[in-house]
Amino acid sequence: MIPVTKSFLPPIEEYTAQVQRAFDNGWLTNRGELVLELEQKLADYLQLQQSKILLMNNGTIPLQIALKLLGKGGEIITTPFSYVATTAAIVWENCTPVFVDIHPEYLTIDETKIEAAITDKTTCILATHVFGNPCNIEEIDRIAIKHNLNVIYDAAHCFGVTYKGKSIFEYGDVSTCSFHATKLFHTGEGGALFCKDAELFHQLYYSHNFGHDGPLAFHGLGINGKMSELNAAMGLAVLPYIDKIIAERKHAVHHYDTQLNFRILQKLVVREGTNWNNSYYPIISTSEDQLIIIEQKLIAHRILPRRYFYPSLHDLPYVHTQQMPVSAQIASSILCLPLFTGLKNQDIERICSLIND
Ligand SMILES: *Cc1c(COP(=O)(O)O)cnc(C)c1O
Repeated sequence: MIPVTKSFLPPIEEYTAQVQRAFDNGWLTNRGELVLELEQKLADYLQLQQSKILLMNNGTIPLQIALKLLGKGGEIITTPFSYVATTAAIVWENCTPVFVDIHPEYLTIDETKIEAAITDKTTCILATHVFGNPCNIEEIDRIAIKHNLNVIYDAAHCFGVTYKGKSIFEYGDVSTCSFHATKLFHTGEGGALFCKDAELFHQLYYSHNFGHDGPLAFHGLGINGKMSELNAAMGLAVLPYIDKIIAERKHAVHHYDTQLNFRILQKLVVREGTNWNNSYYPIISTSEDQLIIIEQKLIAHRILPRRYFYPSLHDLPYVHTQQMPVSAQIASSILCLPLFTGLKNQDIERICSLIND
């Protein structure tokens, strides 16, 4: 069986050596030594300049905290083409998602349609750099400044991506990442938020720890978004392999590119100025029927692609219906092919020949 993804697992001795540190310290959570060390190592690896990083328990809670602080129960302009967490976080925080359709090649929010969706209730733009492909950041910034909106980027797929020479996490008022087991860099479960503004970072920080201001006082309302030492142990064991992980994926993506017949298939167009992380390998077919033929054929050969991201989020049962023709078309005809460290050339060749047939 070839799955769409496989978690990278470091040698178990290297993982247990990190866990041993937590045992030796007798300290399992509440920003212990391992979390602080991982935070520092990630800041170095990502070459963060202005942004500060805060490690968290997953990639959804940082979205929720950012929306709680910046969304203020208003309307959030967002993309219909992302993982469900993006929209769910908006609704969970009692804000209203207002969808704006996507660009047919970049698959990110179509910035030319954002201004028409702004009302006096709009508080934020929450856009996803989907598959690690940056949104049109400059244009979104311009619109946000003009209309006094905050920008939150769901950068769950973006570990290691740089845009115009700096980490993608340097952009937006808040940017978030997921370190879930299926993501390129992972801690089992985990995530992070990134923020440049010291005052906002402080609010986000206390919000992720019950609002604590020392043991007895509280700044304000908070929730538990802390990463545990056990998850940080996994991150510390995976991080030394990150360049190898990204290099192997890059090789696999290149191999797919040379083997697949693109006469009828479309592939992701990565925005210029991006150093991409090769996080996913989506192919877009001409129709849903065509896609299902490909999917069924692969499944029959025990290859399990995934329909990332279906359905288009404007079709979720808990949001108001809006017409999003591009996203609807893409969501119904896109398929992510297997991509992980250890995927063999000959497996890629087999997958491609099944699809080309
Ligand atoms: C994975 C993912 C999330 C959620 O991250 P978790 O760590 O699983 O909570 C959010 N947004 C997108 C786009 C994702 O792919």
